[in-house]
Amino acid sequence: MKKGIDKWDAIVVGGGLAGLSAAYEMARNGLEVMVVERGEHCGAKNVSGGRLYGHSLEKMIPGFAKEAPIERRIVRERLALLTEDGGTVIEYGSDRLDAAPSYSVNRSEFDQWLARKAEEAGALVITGITVRELYMEEGKVCGICSDKDVFRSDVVILADGVNSLLAQKIGMKKEWDPEHVAVGVKEVIKLDSQKINMHFGLKDGEGTALMATGYVTGGKIGGGFLYTNKDTVSVGIVTTVGDTEHSEVAVPEMLERFEQHPMIQPLIQEGKVVEYSAHLVPEGGKKALPALVKDGVILTGDAAGFVMNLGFTVRGMDLAIESGRLAAEAVLRARALGDFSQASLSQYETLLNESFVMRDMAQYQNFPGFMASSHRLYDDYSQMADSLLAQLYVVDGNRQDDILTKAARAAAKVGLVNLALDGIRGLGAL
Ligand SMILES: Cc1cc2nc3c(=O)[nH]c(=O)nc-3n(C[C@H](O)[C@H](O)[C@H](O)COP(=O)(O)OP(=O)(O)OC[C@H]3O[C@@H](n4cnc5c(N)ncnc54)[C@H](O)[C@@H]3O)c2cc1C
Repeated sequence: MKKGIDKWDAIVVGGGLAGLSAAYEMARNGLEVMVVERGEHCGAKNVSGGRLYGHSLEKMIPGFAKEAPIERRIVRERLALLTEDGGTVIEYGSDRLDAAPSYSVNRSEFDQWLARKAEEAGALVITGITVRELYMEEGKVCGICSDKDVFRSDVVILADGVNSLLAQKIGMKKEWDPEHVAVGVKEVIKLDSQKINMHFGLKDGEGTALMATGYVTGGKIGGGFLYTNKDTVSVGIVTTVGDTEHSEVAVPEMLERFEQHPMIQPLIQEGKVVEYSAHLVPEGGKKALPALVKDGVILTGDAAGFVMNLGFTVRGMDLAIESGRLAAEAVLRARALGDFSQASLSQYETLLNESFVMRDMAQYQNFPGFMASSHRLYDDYSQMADSLLAQLYVVDGNRQDDILTKAARAAAKVGLVNLALDGIRGLGAL
């Protein structure tokens, strides 16, 4: 503990990417900052699938990929529409991906690296302590309480993740609506790096990100993901809590279906499961955001609901980093004014509105509604692609229909009206 500090400039609750980014930025600018993390080390409790879009961290720590513990740079994107016995896989690879690199990361190592960066910048990072209460004076947040002590600060940044009980206790957010939260389960599978290269057609250091929909969730909202790491593969499922309540397929069974699927199993065969974890993912989008500031307190990252589950990708880490950095910027501005009231801290909202965080959240704000509105997305379209491609590729010497008839026959299973409706809704949500 730093000596002689009886009031911190800022206390950050939660040592994930949002909290550590805020701490790094504030400490780098000369503030006395303490981060309190409940895990035995930063990253110990994180469950990301593991693909980090690098742009926001690049802004804060230019050239970070040269020193940070990244696993692989993603050079291939795969989208798999799975049926019970097969499926359709679209693969995308282009030099364009180099312009804005993304990386698979192991959060346990990655968060510890960012914690060291925050410490080098001057922050104090304390681990193994859960903050159970905020310290209030006249309705304003003025610090945190541990079992025995009160730690005072000008401002508290809540970066304590999706289930921020502290934000709930002071009325900034309600308990999550099951329709606005997903459950993610993940296994890390150990596999020799050369086998990974071979199974996915990669060179050393290159990686694949695969998202899958269809058979795995039994028609429920969600899908599977797979990311290649150096010598492991992260495989998991993200599915909406409200929908799984009515599901005949339990979440662990979805993961098993995914891993055993004939188009996935060969990719991970001979691998050994070395880690299993489960975590919640906010997915209500912009319409479900809580209050972001109150007197003496700011919400960032998952605690604020900054996650986008778009089916073809899950994004939370780049938003966590940017919102943490902008929270720090708002604190620096408030400090210059000597005013940590809600009105002064609302500069955070202005900064967010000017950033990609709110721009992207606004762009996709109708997406959660679209994903929830049509269960056809999670089953029928995989079947439709399968019927069409089977008609194209199965050659048995019988008379062939023309391509339009084949397409119409495949689409008829979904229903032309449904197809048109989903198309219109989908375009409206983008
Ligand atoms: C299965 C799954 C797959 C995902 N895949 C991706 C992906 O591929 N790409 C992507 O960008 N995003 C992904 N996400 C989302 C991403 O993980 C989150 O958006 C991101 O981790 C949010 O960072 P954060 O710092 O806000 O919260 P967290 O990473 O959750 O960190 C919060 C921290 O606060 C600590 N904490 C909580 N309460 C307290 C307390 N009271 N006192 C002290 N400490 C506390 C926790 O221990 C934790 O370390 C995925 C999420 C899941 C669950």
